[in-house]
Amino acid sequence: MLQKQLINNKMFSPDIENPIDQILMGSFCKDCNTIYFPQKRVCPNCMHIDRMELRELSKTGKLISFTTSYVGPPGFEPPYAYGWIDLPEGIRLFSLLTDCKPFEEKLRLDMPVEVVMDKIKVDSNGTEIYGYKFKPL
Ligand SMILES: [Zn+2]
Repeated sequence: MLQKQLINNKMFSPDIENPIDQILMGSFCKDCNTIYFPQKRVCPNCMHIDRMELRELSKTGKLISFTTSYVGPPGFEPPYAYGWIDLPEGIRLFSLLTDCKPFEEKLRLDMPVEVVMDKIKVDSNGTEIYGYKFKPL
């Protein structure tokens, strides 16, 4: 039977069961007003423990760097593109990019991008691993 699994539970909402419906969730420190992604229990800024609350991250950001890969590790389907995205709350994410072929025509520095949930790879047991990707807006 085909299974679906999140790539990392510390990136998403614990209240949403279906991986394809997930949203990006970071940790917001109630003591120093700093937000982190992935989620943390201890604030790296003020070092306070258990003062974090889950906070949904922005769905759109800006593509600040990218490249394409024509070879990939097992479970990936090259060619694919990936890059760094800045979110308005000051978080910088590394992400695969999707809906962007041909890459050289559709991808531009500083372009707006939007988060989507998608299959990242299939592991050796046949489990589909889901995570976030960004697509051009
Ligand atoms: Zn803090």
